[in-house]
Amino acid sequence: MATRVQLSRAQTEARETYESFARDHIAPFANDWDLKGELPEDFLAAFAGDGHLGAIVPAAYGGRETDPITFGLLNEETGRACSSVRSLVTVHSMVAHAVTRWGNERQRARWLPRLATGGSVGAFALTEPGAGSDVQGLAATARRTDDGFVLNGEKRWITFGRRADVYLLFARLEGRPTAFLVERRNPGLDVRPVEGVLGTRASMLADLSLTDCRVPADAVLGRPGFGLAAVAADALELGRYSVAWGCVGLSQACLDASLDYAEQRQQFGARLRDHQLVQRMLADMATGTSASRLLCQQAGWLRASGDQQGVHATWLAKYFATTTAFRAASDAVQIHGARGCGGEYPVQRYLRDAKVMEIIEGSTELQQTTIAGSAYQNHAASSSFTAPAAMAEAAGQEART
Ligand SMILES: Cc1cc2nc3c(=O)[nH]c(=O)nc-3n(C[C@H](O)[C@H](O)[C@H](O)COP(=O)(O)OP(=O)(O)OC[C@H]3O[C@@H](n4cnc5c(N)ncnc54)[C@H](O)[C@@H]3O)c2cc1C
Repeated sequence: MATRVQLSRAQTEARETYESFARDHIAPFANDWDLKGELPEDFLAAFAGDGHLGAIVPAAYGGRETDPITFGLLNEETGRACSSVRSLVTVHSMVAHAVTRWGNERQRARWLPRLATGGSVGAFALTEPGAGSDVQGLAATARRTDDGFVLNGEKRWITFGRRADVYLLFARLEGRPTAFLVERRNPGLDVRPVEGVLGTRASMLADLSLTDCRVPADAVLGRPGFGLAAVAADALELGRYSVAWGCVGLSQACLDASLDYAEQRQQFGARLRDHQLVQRMLADMATGTSASRLLCQQAGWLRASGDQQGVHATWLAKYFATTTAFRAASDAVQIHGARGCGGEYPVQRYLRDAKVMEIIEGSTELQQTTIAGSAYQNHAASSSFTAPAAMAEAAGQEART
């Protein structure tokens, strides 16, 4: 039984709905989508039709307005079945979140109802040839014209870029990082599929070229100059949260597959599950999945209560859940032996998908440096209570109240 603490009745029911949708409509087809490198349109219509693309869109604009834990559960159950579908939830929700938070009323009224129904699919376009982990390398430019802006530049690795109708795209306007809503139909935008990606192969990646791409004046989202520090940072924060929960599902899928296989496969006159070294891998998977889930729940509760510590908790959750998922997927392949490397079982897909999770939305190394930096800050803050007394003692002074 998976460890899930303190879910409300509504959250439990939502999780069961997500699980049953994923079990019936995603998991049986995920290997095929992975091989074909795309999600079929009829699936997208069914997924959107059930309201999953509008999960975090405010109800006033036709969305489900789910709380952070419920949104996490959607990502967990979807990610358990297929990381490409979960990637769609991630990037689409990042765009919806940015429009909700930073858009003006006209932009909200225009985009949110379409994003809620999946009438428009959103993608997040930040990465460039020279701007990966270091987003300050952003080189795409925007220039004002009489009736809007002209954009030039290159974007790389854009999840669902092939399918998106609108891109939350970042460029420098007079040198200042600025967020734009670029429509696929805007003249001067060229979309090229990216083939042969290691994992999340059905997430329809594309590279984008902007060549004097013309966008209207109301395409700017938020204030010019706040594109990276506010709009992108905030969207990526949600993206990390979504990926972390997705990796809980991915680890759970590795555990489920490994338990099944270790039960049926016999070697040396015993089931694999009876070999202690296999049990070690199963135990690590079960423990890691539970711990990841708890870290994600912690991040969710903090977000729900508006606590600023939710940001730090999300870093912890993403770091732990993604590294755990990769280890779980590697062990799942190990337990399946040669069959784990073939196409008959999903574990090789899990392994490829899990590696991607350690790179996107802030790589493992960036999380390590961020978390370590934050640990030092906390340490300094807590030390400061004792520092004056310690210093006074060291100086041989009386410092008593
Ligand atoms: C499947 C997939 C989907 C993606 N989807 C999107 C998308 O939808 N939108 C989008 O904008 N981008 C997307 N990306 C791009 C992704 O965000 C970047 O790959 C990521 O930001 C890392 O950038 P990079 O690949 O240029 O690696 P680099 O930044 O060049 O880093 C390479 C390596 O060096 C390490 N490194 C870099 N800096 C440091 C440092 N200071 N300290 C320690 N180590 C460091 C990194 O951790 C990494 O291991 C996607 C990528 C993939 C693979």
